[in-house]
Amino acid sequence: MECFTNKHNQKVNITATHINYYFVCHRKLWLFSNGINMEHTSDIVYEGKLLHENSYEQRPQNRQEMMLSATYNNIELFGRVDFYDSKNKIIHEIKKSDKVETAHQWQVKYYIWLFQLSGIQDVKGIIEYPKLRKTETVELSGKDITELQQCVTEIGKIIENPECPPVIHSKICKSCSYYEFCYVGE
Ligand code: SF4
Repeated sequence: MECFTNKHNQKVNITATHINYYFVCHRKLWLFSNGINMEHTSDIVYEGKLLHENSYEQRPQNRQEMMLSATYNNIELFGRVDFYDSKNKIIHEIKKSDKVETAHQWQVKYYIWLFQLSGIQDVKGIIEYPKLRKTETVELSGKDITELQQCVTEIGKIIENPECPPVIHSKICKSCSYYEFCYVGE
C-alpha cells in the first residue's frame, strides 16, 4: 500500500481535510501536510466544534458518526463523516460557514466516493449550514470521480514537493488560520 511522504520524511494519509484544502489553497494543503497546524488556536474552529456539539444533541439515534477507509490506485484514503443515516443512505455534513463553498461539496463527494470504493452504492450527501438555515444536496457523477482521482494524484505531488507553494493573495486568506503565518513581514 502506498502513501505519501512529506518534507520531514513522515508518512501522510489522505483524508477529507486534504481534499477540502486542495480546493481552497495548495499552500494551506502543503502546510497542513507538513505538520504546521494553526487550527487548534483558532476561535473559528472552536466555534465550529460548538456548533457540531449542539447539533449532535438533536440527532436521531440511527444517525452516527462514521469512519471510512478505502483504497484507490493502491493509495489508502480515509474520512470521517459527521453523521451517516444508514437507513436512507445519506451523509450529513455540518458547516459553520456563512457561505456555501465548493470545497465543502468536494469533501462530501469524496465521502460518497469512499462509500462507492467500499462497495456501497447510491449514497447521497446533505450539507447543512445552520447559520444560513440552508441545506444542500450533493451527488457524485462519473466526471466527479475522474476529478477526485486526479485530485488524489495532485495532492500526492503537493505533499511530496519539498517547496511550500506561494501565498495566493486571495480574499479568503483573511479568514484562514494560516493568515498570520503567511503574511507576517509583508
Ligand atoms: S492565508 Fe491564504 S495563502 Fe496562506 S494558507 Fe491560508 S489561504 Fe493559503
